Amino acid sequence: MKYIAPRGTVDILPDKIDGWIGLENILRTIAENYNVKEMRTPIFEHTELFNRAVGDTTDVVSKEMYSFEDKKGRSITLRPEGTAGIARSYVENKMYALPEKLQKVFYMGPMFRYERPQSGRQRQFHQFGVEMLGIESPYVDVECMMMALNIVQALNIRDVTLHINSLGDEASRDAYREALKDHFRPHLKELCYDCNTRFEKNPLRILDCKTDKDHPAMKSAPCTIDYLTETAKAHFDKVCELLDALEVKYVIDPNMVRGLDYYSHTIFELISDASVLGAGSTIGGGGRYNGLVEELGGPATPGVGFAFGMERLIIAMNNNHLESQHIDVYVMPLGEESKDYSMQLMAALRANGYCADMDFADRGLKGQFKSADRFVARFSFIIGEDEVENETITVKDNITKEQKQIKVEEIIDFLDSKLGVR
Ligand code: AMP
Repeated sequence: MKYIAPRGTVDILPDKIDGWIGLENILRTIAENYNVKEMRTPIFEHTELFNRAVGDTTDVVSKEMYSFEDKKGRSITLRPEGTAGIARSYVENKMYALPEKLQKVFYMGPMFRYERPQSGRQRQFHQFGVEMLGIESPYVDVECMMMALNIVQALNIRDVTLHINSLGDEASRDAYREALKDHFRPHLKELCYDCNTRFEKNPLRILDCKTDKDHPAMKSAPCTIDYLTETAKAHFDKVCELLDALEVKYVIDPNMVRGLDYYSHTIFELISDASVLGAGSTIGGGGRYNGLVEELGGPATPGVGFAFGMERLIIAMNNNHLESQHIDVYVMPLGEESKDYSMQLMAALRANGYCADMDFADRGLKGQFKSADRFVARFSFIIGEDEVENETITVKDNITKEQKQIKVEEIIDFLDSKLGVR
């Protein structure tokens, strides 16, 4: 039998890992700049959590979850998104009682959705997400958007537009739901079976139907903004005012609802024009979710957050600004005795903070120089019989192409002078 990775999963091979680590490092640095701490929650949770938090009429829950029974018959689900787990943990660990009222956290890791795999869409994919829990303020909404925009900027991803909208508070959404029902009622016969169910249970979800997305009634559907209560409108106006003051360009997208049920008030997406992204032009999105923590049994606690698809970030950033991996020294032993000597030399180099590797394949100089090139080694250390006997190293500077003999006891000083003390 031939073993292949399950459909919709991807191996990240060593030649692609630099891009991932580079991305992760940039995300961590930005999180630090925004005083956002990492939080790690389990990869699987009880299925009810997602039914409750994400909503059982959403596509994510009703069609895309990886759910199974464990050996005790409990229904378990591989997380399809990160917010539900964070909110569950926030309640379980009473983070609402912490002295710092605004808890700012990030997560990074794999998510699972049973979707049709295509360019920019996988069944196991990765998200970097941020959640800010505890304070209901348009300033925090904008703090989230600024962080998301900072990420895009730091990764040098161009042609990205911030799209925003507001779903308002509960009263706004009640009014909007009624308006949607009035709008879609005359078209029910033309809409798909799922939309008919959604009409009864959760009319907002009709708007993200993939089957009926081109039906004319979709385009003419009422806009959320027209149904905002005064308080909800004031919140949204303040968000826009703050973005204006920060000279952030954005587009108000009155038809955007986002695919998860927990959102209220501000929602946003970062949409890229990059054609490389294919179907995945939304590289990230998020919004406010003021009811979620209470829904999960905690005290009424506002929250706002966003998540980026990391595969899409990798595609969009095109690796061009990342430094490629290089090593300081490639050690080239010529003969058995030289190998022992080389192992000791590598131990000393690494103990002094230098990044070193050597040939383990007993090749001649030509093959070893090829590896030094592939590893982008700054120096090659050639160790033949003479070098072992005289306790010297033939050092080749791979930039200037100069070659010289250096006494082994002077080698660390030499590297320190060339590369800086580690
Ligand atoms: P969501 O949690 O649905 O708001 O998605 C947030 C971001 O995750 C999206 O904008 C995408 O960048 C990414 N994403 C969602 N689903 C997938 C998937 N199946 N494959 C790759 N990326 C995804």
